[in-house]
Amino acid sequence: MMPRIGLLSDIHGNLPALDAVLAALAKETIDRIVCCGDIVGYGPWPGEVIARLRVADALCVQGNHDATTAGRLPLDYFNVAARAVIEWTRTVLPSNQVAYLRDLPQTLVEDQFVVVHGSLRGPLWEYMRDAFVAGETFSLLDRPFGLFGHSHVQGGFVDLDGRVIPLDRTTGSVDLLPAGRYLINPGSVGQPRDGDPRAAYAIIDFAERKVFFKRVPYDIQATMQGILHAGLPPQFAERLQRGR
Ligand code: ZN
Repeated sequence: MMPRIGLLSDIHGNLPALDAVLAALAKETIDRIVCCGDIVGYGPWPGEVIARLRVADALCVQGNHDATTAGRLPLDYFNVAARAVIEWTRTVLPSNQVAYLRDLPQTLVEDQFVVVHGSLRGPLWEYMRDAFVAGETFSLLDRPFGLFGHSHVQGGFVDLDGRVIPLDRTTGSVDLLPAGRYLINPGSVGQPRDGDPRAAYAIIDFAERKVFFKRVPYDIQATMQGILHAGLPPQFAERLQRGR
């Protein structure tokens, strides 16, 4: 049983952001950390991030960046800049960490929830950005909760008797109605794209039936420096400041 989980996604090799989130979670009572994929890509500390997740014994699924880094998807699905980081990541990861990424499941099923990176229909690639696409995943979901990432946008959807409605995360927490089924995206730890540059994560309390959407500041300058120092495309540093 996992009554209360810390939910992370899209860390993308951003160690200062992950450490800020782990420090915040250390002050909470959490049964397990669950990660919706894209551990690597874009950021300069892929090996350190993998090491942190292994020490934390996080339950992780594979994202499209993880799969491609481990050679399970062709590089040409990515634009030139993203591909450059994946190729660099392959050169810095030891083989046991590449194997860790390679062996991650694409779908993870627990008693109360299913975890995927993108969607149930397309675990590695499909973006669930609107109620219509979310509805396709609800039709495949055989648990009360689906946990996902990929869009780097914090939030999610509720299915109430076949009506799919976006969650309102503006108050920071959402009550989980017993009659509802939920798709929950914690947002991106390492490269937020919803206009808030702080690291995003979530806490789901299945016993209290609440999801808490959280943000925590981190040393953005340190990650920008790390990206430039590693010789990675500067646009991935610049966008961290804007959270876009
Ligand atoms: Zn991602």
